[in-house]
Amino acid sequence: MPPLRRLRQKGERVMSEPKSQNISKVQLQVTRAQREAALGQRGVTVWFTGLSASGKSTIATSVDQLLTSRGKHCYVLDGDNIRFGLNRDLGFSPEDRNENIRRIGEVAKLFTQAGIINLTAFISPYIEDRDRNREIQEPRDFIEVYVECPLEACEKRDPKGLYAKARAGLVKEFTGISAPYEAPVNAEVVLHTDRETEEESARTVVEFLESKGYLDGV
Ligand code: ADP
Repeated sequence: MPPLRRLRQKGERVMSEPKSQNISKVQLQVTRAQREAALGQRGVTVWFTGLSASGKSTIATSVDQLLTSRGKHCYVLDGDNIRFGLNRDLGFSPEDRNENIRRIGEVAKLFTQAGIINLTAFISPYIEDRDRNREIQEPRDFIEVYVECPLEACEKRDPKGLYAKARAGLVKEFTGISAPYEAPVNAEVVLHTDRETEEESARTVVEFLESKGYLDGV
């Protein structure tokens, strides 16, 4: 794997201050607590991270189904889906990945404030990007789920044939092959999808949310 790179030095698209000056925040009249009481749950961002084919989308989708069947309000923000729309202008360079994850972090924050349990399925290979998305939310509002699976197992699965293409040099900057992946060090939940079933991994996430009170009305 290539050496890790820090992004902020060249990630000039990461803006801490808005470009516009004559703007001010509108105070909404419905509080977050009121929204959560109406929904019977706490809003939260469940941030899945892991190599391509580690199982992020599969598990996020499964958690979405499990919770929805229990009457909870969820939504999955998935990497490829977002790249068809909101982030259609972004590629896979370090800077574009940085901006991709920054925008998703902001969208996830909005969902959380709306009281939704949002499940994000993005490789999100850089610790700095994930930490920033955690930092823009309240501590309770961001849960990192490391979908751990050895590169060899992901490559063997290769559901989209991308590893084969990356090995052949047909896909550039592919995480794990020609671009780095920085594993989380403090994830709230760690899944091992090479030795757990999809159902087991999904249940682990649901049980974590349940044990921490996210599925209770406020
Ligand atoms: P990602 O979103 O991380 O790129 P996907 O969920 O799209 O990964 O693909 C993971 C693939 O691995 C799917 O084809 C899935 O059926 C398979 N798979 C095998 N075992 C597991 C497991 N325990 N958890 C999740 N996915 C698994």
